[in-house]
Amino acid sequence: MVKLHDTATGSVKELELRRDGEVSMYVCGPTVYGFPHLGHGRFALTFDILRRYLTFCGLNVVYVSNITDIDDKIIQRAHAEGKTCDEIAHFYEEKWWESMDALSILRPTYTPHALDYVEGMVDLIGKLFNIDAAYETSDGLYLDVSKVEGYGLLAHQDLKSLRSGARVEIDSNKRSPVDFALWKFAKPGEPIWPSPWGNGRPGWHTECVVMSLDLLGEGFDIHGGAQDLIFPHHENERAQAVVLGRKFARHWVHNGWVTVEGEKMSKSLDNYTTLPELLSHHDPRAFRLLVLRSHYRSPIEVTPETLTDSEAALGRLDAFVRRVLNEIQDSYRGSIISGKDASLHLENFKAAMDNDLDTPGATAQLFECISRGHILLDQSNYEAAWSCYLAVCEMADAVGLERKSIPGRIDQKTMETIAARDQARSQRDYALADKLRDELVSMGWAVEDSPSGTRVHRS
Ligand SMILES: [Zn+2]
Repeated sequence: MVKLHDTATGSVKELELRRDGEVSMYVCGPTVYGFPHLGHGRFALTFDILRRYLTFCGLNVVYVSNITDIDDKIIQRAHAEGKTCDEIAHFYEEKWWESMDALSILRPTYTPHALDYVEGMVDLIGKLFNIDAAYETSDGLYLDVSKVEGYGLLAHQDLKSLRSGARVEIDSNKRSPVDFALWKFAKPGEPIWPSPWGNGRPGWHTECVVMSLDLLGEGFDIHGGAQDLIFPHHENERAQAVVLGRKFARHWVHNGWVTVEGEKMSKSLDNYTTLPELLSHHDPRAFRLLVLRSHYRSPIEVTPETLTDSEAALGRLDAFVRRVLNEIQDSYRGSIISGKDASLHLENFKAAMDNDLDTPGATAQLFECISRGHILLDQSNYEAAWSCYLAVCEMADAVGLERKSIPGRIDQKTMETIAARDQARSQRDYALADKLRDELVSMGWAVEDSPSGTRVHRS
């Protein structure tokens, strides 16, 4: 069974599911006021990989990830650009999905939008108010976190140290600096919704608790997001559920930072900080492989160099698939993985993934299986090489790594030219071999020399 690090306990523990065979997962999505950046790409890829792997393990995954379409930043951008909040949110949500699709990130089972849940949020705030966990000030409604049992669980700090570490806001008449806004009273020029306490809009922390409980129910399995959401966002989501006596997430999973040129990404704003920018320069699979080759809780360095390095590794994957499909005849192509080489790599891959999603270890198995497959091909051991190919495909599919190497159909004329070139090479007639290579190139093939002879694929 899969083991994952749980932020609440600070330890790696077995994933204990609410219902056998089903995983319910909530991952905080983007606030749509700008182009998605590399940090967004990393969390979306991390949880896509987790989701795909759990599915690969035979579990039915219900994956919810929200869109925050009302927020201070959306309002600010709308004012700055002379547009409505809806126009800004709609435009950047489209940009979000364009990048997600390009990265082959599966669409969530449900994508709730905050604006569709305002009524539910007002309802939840009313309940908090009724049990005296919320109070009103001149600018809004706040949660009194001293009423929440175990507040600070995710931050691993008690209320006293959280209080002393909190930034004291000027002009706030909150009871404690750690208390947070549930409802913000209307300010001129802002979109507003009605509530029993006056017009205004909901706070961000209320959105996710309402949507996750509504779509997944109490005690759902996994709540995920980037590490910078642990405190205060996730702590405050949990606080609202717990104070109402409702069971919240069973397991908290958080992914690490992205660094660009050694700096934490949010501080650096040159090239390669947005996903559209990255995707215009690199194979989209390179970012996924970069994420896979680091542990999800460690920081990753995204630079043109690390991406180019990933592309070189993808070249190895593609070249292996091409070679297998070119060289192995149908009669050797079995439908199940047999032989100890492929089986062992696949077993080791699963063991690594089960161990807190050790994707670097798992990816190493995939590439070792490729190396073994080449050796088997060199030895003309086609059945075992085919098994390695099947294992490579299975491992790659389990983590969403696509192969771009389905060869074009090799026609009779090409086959004859390859045979003639191999014969010329064996007779050391290199002038003729070069001429036949040029012919293949002019027919649209990329040509490689291998120990077993000429290999071609569509260039
Ligand atoms: Zn959230």
